[in-house]
Amino acid sequence: MPLKSCLPFDTVYLVGGTHGNERTGVSLVQHWGQSPSEIQRETFATHLLLSNPQAIEKNIRFIDRDLNRSFLPRLLEDRRNIDYEVGRAREIVKTFSAEHPGKRTFAIDLHTTTARMGTTLITNTVPANLAIAAQVRQKMAEVRIYSFDASDRINSCLRAAADGGIGVEIGPIPQGVVRHDTLAIARQVVRQILDAIDAHNRKTLALPDEETAVYLHDRHVFYPQQPSSAAPVFVHQALQGQDYHPLSAGHPIFQNLDGRIWPYEGPSPRYPVFINEAAYYRENIAFSLTRRITLASLLSI
Ligand SMILES: [Zn+2]
Repeated sequence: MPLKSCLPFDTVYLVGGTHGNERTGVSLVQHWGQSPSEIQRETFATHLLLSNPQAIEKNIRFIDRDLNRSFLPRLLEDRRNIDYEVGRAREIVKTFSAEHPGKRTFAIDLHTTTARMGTTLITNTVPANLAIAAQVRQKMAEVRIYSFDASDRINSCLRAAADGGIGVEIGPIPQGVVRHDTLAIARQVVRQILDAIDAHNRKTLALPDEETAVYLHDRHVFYPQQPSSAAPVFVHQALQGQDYHPLSAGHPIFQNLDGRIWPYEGPSPRYPVFINEAAYYRENIAFSLTRRITLASLLSI
């Protein structure tokens, strides 16, 4: 494992409101602004960031475009683009890099989902990020790790602007809502991530259990193409809420009110996530599929 040789992180950003209607992160960042001792550690400086202030103000996901799809360099360098979120992305990149020259930054981006995903840590496949996520899972057995290979999708999210990063997804919770239980879980997860980064910096992070399960992103599944006059199609009752449960060929995934059923066709097993996520309706995405692999197999790729 090459993890011990990874450089320390000097600065950690705790980010809320990248999606302005995901209020858990917003509330926690506001709380820590008043009571920061809980998020301070000796080996790094912790900064707070409300990343999309106008969307937070309106309690909506975004103003012009999804901020968490706005960090690709070619988009940031296109000066003709005056979307609010692209402007915010430019400022955040500057904050993460230009204001911390020579320092290594880590972003913890706090999200919620309407899907029944429990507590999920989202990372790319960089070993330091995976090791920190695996450490959190050792402390909180209910945590799952959802990882993405490098792609425009993963490189366009806010975390990509920092040297290291983890996205926190907790659900189900409706959009625009603050709830005590989701707040408590998110608070506990953030404490564990900060402790793991602190251990990483001190080179005392335990080597991760190589058998740790990682759900590697495979693909999105879209709602079936239908004529506009056809009856609406929705997620099948047998799939609803079954995030991270194995899905095999033939299992029903969609239905309509006439009783028609659409079965899953494709490689098996796959593990669905973000089932019936409200934010993805506008992209026609019904859920995403992952492959369940071990941490060891991911690190040896
Ligand atoms: Zn989000």
